[in-house]
Amino acid sequence: MAAAASKPAIDRLRQQVSELMMIPGLSGYEGRVRRRIAGELSALGFASRTDRLGNLIATLQGNNSAPSVMLFAHMDQLGFIVRKIEASGLIRVERLGGVPERALPSQAVLLCIEEGKDVAGVIANKSHHATAPEEKYRVLPYPELYIDAGFGSAADVLSAGIDVGTPVVYAPKTIAMAAERIAGTSVDDRAGCAVMIEAARRLKTISSRPTVHLVFSVEDEFNLKDAVTAAQALLPAIAIQLDIILATDTPDMTARGDVRLGGGPAMSLYSFHGRGTLNGTIPHPALVQLITATAREENLTLQRSAHVGALTDSSYVQLVHEGVAAIDLGFPTRYTHSSLEVCDLGDLEELTRLTVAAIARIDERFSLNRDDYLQ
Ligand SMILES: [Zn+2]
Repeated sequence: MAAAASKPAIDRLRQQVSELMMIPGLSGYEGRVRRRIAGELSALGFASRTDRLGNLIATLQGNNSAPSVMLFAHMDQLGFIVRKIEASGLIRVERLGGVPERALPSQAVLLCIEEGKDVAGVIANKSHHATAPEEKYRVLPYPELYIDAGFGSAADVLSAGIDVGTPVVYAPKTIAMAAERIAGTSVDDRAGCAVMIEAARRLKTISSRPTVHLVFSVEDEFNLKDAVTAAQALLPAIAIQLDIILATDTPDMTARGDVRLGGGPAMSLYSFHGRGTLNGTIPHPALVQLITATAREENLTLQRSAHVGALTDSSYVQLVHEGVAAIDLGFPTRYTHSSLEVCDLGDLEELTRLTVAAIARIDERFSLNRDDYLQ
């Protein structure tokens, strides 16, 4: 049984996640999200800096005899890039990231030009009355899709500031649901960013802890590697990534595991992506032991996840320098990469508690020596 979540923390997380999800931030175009998060950190009294790729880094100095920790979450979201503007004013796009083509027709989108000048559009869906029976159950590949933003000519599109290369995201949206659940356009991973900010607020009050580098990373949905440059600069001993964990409690997911939405934070024991990347994360045993013991002592239910098909930046971050002990922690999420992903605020609050309490337990005696562990 999980300990009761704190109501003010849930309220702060609700507001933070909702506001972050309303800010567009396609991979490579995270500036607006970054400015917002830098402002939040500054309000908490933390200075931050941005590296050349766009990663936002804030270091909270601590006990330097304990192994240092890089705690990170990605700011970017998946979406599209304008590929071609038709003479008719309709717009064709390339996918950026793991965009599910099955869930695209009829979606609202936002063409991102600059704050105040963004243009709304829809991904067209062929009129139902003209859809032949054999077309009804066919998924259209993205080159067949087009965006209608209301323009009547290519010249009109260009004069609105839209050109080849313009970033496009799902139209930002948040929906408050029953039972402290929330749906939104980029739960992945603005919810992780919100947890990081809440964790920063609590880490500030903990005097006995290692140095913690907070990294809000870029381009996870594009290449999974931009957090590597932050790790190369910071050389942490430990890396903890906060991101989505697949919820498997819907009828279409039951064979994949027992991760329940609202069932508490989750730890990934295995991730792998065999399509091209050939990478994944098998967590360091010291961290599995630390997270398991922390959850038990904090009276938090810890869920376990093992999946092929998804991975995070931690796969690459762990390969930096002499090796970084890495683990993926997260919150159960439904309908991943669709325009409305769903998470549970109680899970986010408990993930915050778990993360902060685990970090506070890392002292100079904490061993990352493989020979100190049975496996
Ligand atoms: Zn993610």
